[in-house]
Amino acid sequence: MYVNVLVQISLSDDKLFTYSIPSVIKNKIQIGSRVKVPFGRTKIEGLIMGVKVQIDSDLKVKDIIEVIDDEPLLNDEMINLGKFMSETYLCSLITAYKTMLPSALKFNKNKTGIKTEKNIYIKEYKEVETRAERNIIEKLKENNKIKKSEISNKKALNKLLELNIVEEVKEEIYRLDTNTKKEEPKILTSKQDMVFKKVIQSDDKIHLIRGITGSGKTEIYMKLIENVIKSGKQAIVLVPEIAITTQLISRFRKIFGRDIAVLHSGLNDGEKYDEWRKIKRGEVSIAIGARSAVFAPFSNLGIIIIDEEHESSYKQDNNPRYNTIDIAIERCKKHDSKLILGSATPSLESYARAKTNKYNLIELLERINKKELPHVDIIDMKDELKKGHSLLSRKSIEKIKDRIQKKEQIMILLNRRGYSNYVLCRECGIVLKCPNCDISLTYHKGSNIMRCHYCGYGTNKPNKCSKCNSSHIMLMGTGIEKADEILRDMFKDLRIIRMDSDTTSKKGMYEKIINDFNDHKYDLLLGTQMIAKGLDFDNVSLVIVLNGDYSLNIPDYRSSEKTFQLLTQVAGRAGRKDLDGEIIIQTFNPDHYAITLSKNHDYFNFFNKEMLIRKRMFYPPFCLIVAVRIISKNYEEGYKEINKINKHLKNELNYKYVVLGPTSSLRINNTHKFQCIIKYKDKKLLYKVLRDIQKHYNNNKIKLEIDFNPTKL
Ligand code: ADP
Ligand code: ZN
Ligand code: ZN
Repeated sequence: MYVNVLVQISLSDDKLFTYSIPSVIKNKIQIGSRVKVPFGRTKIEGLIMGVKVQIDSDLKVKDIIEVIDDEPLLNDEMINLGKFMSETYLCSLITAYKTMLPSALKFNKNKTGIKTEKNIYIKEYKEVETRAERNIIEKLKENNKIKKSEISNKKALNKLLELNIVEEVKEEIYRLDTNTKKEEPKILTSKQDMVFKKVIQSDDKIHLIRGITGSGKTEIYMKLIENVIKSGKQAIVLVPEIAITTQLISRFRKIFGRDIAVLHSGLNDGEKYDEWRKIKRGEVSIAIGARSAVFAPFSNLGIIIIDEEHESSYKQDNNPRYNTIDIAIERCKKHDSKLILGSATPSLESYARAKTNKYNLIELLERINKKELPHVDIIDMKDELKKGHSLLSRKSIEKIKDRIQKKEQIMILLNRRGYSNYVLCRECGIVLKCPNCDISLTYHKGSNIMRCHYCGYGTNKPNKCSKCNSSHIMLMGTGIEKADEILRDMFKDLRIIRMDSDTTSKKGMYEKIINDFNDHKYDLLLGTQMIAKGLDFDNVSLVIVLNGDYSLNIPDYRSSEKTFQLLTQVAGRAGRKDLDGEIIIQTFNPDHYAITLSKNHDYFNFFNKEMLIRKRMFYPPFCLIVAVRIISKNYEEGYKEINKINKHLKNELNYKYVVLGPTSSLRINNTHKFQCIIKYKDKKLLYKVLRDIQKHYNNNKIKLEIDFNPTKL
């Protein structure tokens, strides 16, 4: 007997080799297990992909050295899912499988171990001599086992071990083990219950729940999951942002206790490995996490829920460039389970699919307790600037004062990290740029460093201009650190907490900030887009968006959609419980439809208007898009290469395809990116052409990237 082993030599190119099986390990061979194999003069790890009875007689094969896993890491479903990904995204199998596994299990890596603790158990009751020994035995009678570390009298313990009265057992433990007090689930309102019933009574597999912010979608998800667990099946819940997982997990723990595994980037490798094992062993029924939790290795899935389904973080931006919704659909097909997409502002693609009955559309357009959606004010900052107000409009100041008096909480959103946007020499006008990128540096006052937000480069703020030696170095524009400073200055007694990727880089900081704000240890939460979505605070009655235009200025066909979604989401953060909510959006484009329509939370009209524009411009959902990119350190070589590709695409693809480009983007980290965009409806010819192109780029100097449904154009 022989096996086909997928080995990792290059990440872009799959290599399958045949090995023979020494008879001693024959019964350990299972598809989906890792093995160690000889390769040239070295040994490497690989994955068993298949078993063969016969091979060509002239093929020389070597023996497998050892089987690493007792249980296969990947079952049939996962092996096939990898193949699906490889075919859909034109990525290699090896990158697909690596994405499915926690890093502790990845190939050729130092392994993060399983954590153990030593426990003491009773073996046989016998008379003992000392009081200390008797104490240990008494405790064991009460507790069945004691942690070795909790026994202080080691001498007595050793004696008992020696006499074979007790025994020491090394046992596996999980790093995360939370015990939350359980609560009864909320009783669904009749509107919520209607949504629940529509899902479970329907034969449809994919449901899009458009429920406005605060309509109680999360409670419906929990009820659906409870129902799934009752039938002995399992559930995956996906959320777009780690900041949201914190609150969601604590809500879920109150209902489902320890029946939950969590998977997100806030965990370390060991914790992730433990959570993964809980799922794989079937010890929990629910997995909650970010994008990659869609690969949670459940064997009997009943439901996958994708909350805030419109979020771009569901698309992975590096290889394999997968779309979580595609993967979820594929997994649900295999398990015959349901997929729930939920959002107050579904992506145009999803809503269009629901409208054409590819998904079952369920709408929930009323908040819990019939609470009104908050009132939204749009402030034209052009007028305010003339009056000398740059950070906060007059209305914003007035409302903040009002909330301070009423002791209600405030959230302020500013989508700009750091202290200043850029650093400028007043004398000669140069802007300080990153040496590795064509990007200006952002000053961070906290660390007193100018940092590049693209490659991470950092340097001290110079006292003198490197070009003209002038000392007139100016910090221009307002980032979130500066806004923090100004707010503290304006409102002396206001307790402000800031939440952005700088203040949350330490482990556990998300939880801390969210819990502290929830417990009203602070009056104002100032944050980047991190605070815009999903959070649920009872006492927040005012939300201010300082730069409502932020996403409008991004050159992307989705910039209006992103802006509308963000503003509607933010607007949903206020007035969720007993208080009435008020929203202020400060903008330089008060007449843009993405902004005016968000004033009335008017998804329906936004959808219709945006669809007309997309249709006219031939953009998704009226077509699909794939980006073909060349990444090169050398500008000229990259330029030459992308032109070759562009020409090839235009020659090979017929009139049904639109090829745009090539374009080049700013230099980032000393690399240049060039790209062609293809708009298409039919993938057959396209895939053939792309596969052909792919064959030419296995070298490292110039890289090819193929990105279906790219989040950035
Ligand atoms: P969404 O996810 O749609 O924004 P949530 O599920 O977070 O809405 O619900 C909004 C608020 O209403 C939460 O504080 C939640 O606890 C509360 N809530 C939801 N459903 C009910 C219910 N049936 N009874 C009482 N309170 C509810
Ligand atoms: Zn200068
Ligand atoms: Zn840089």
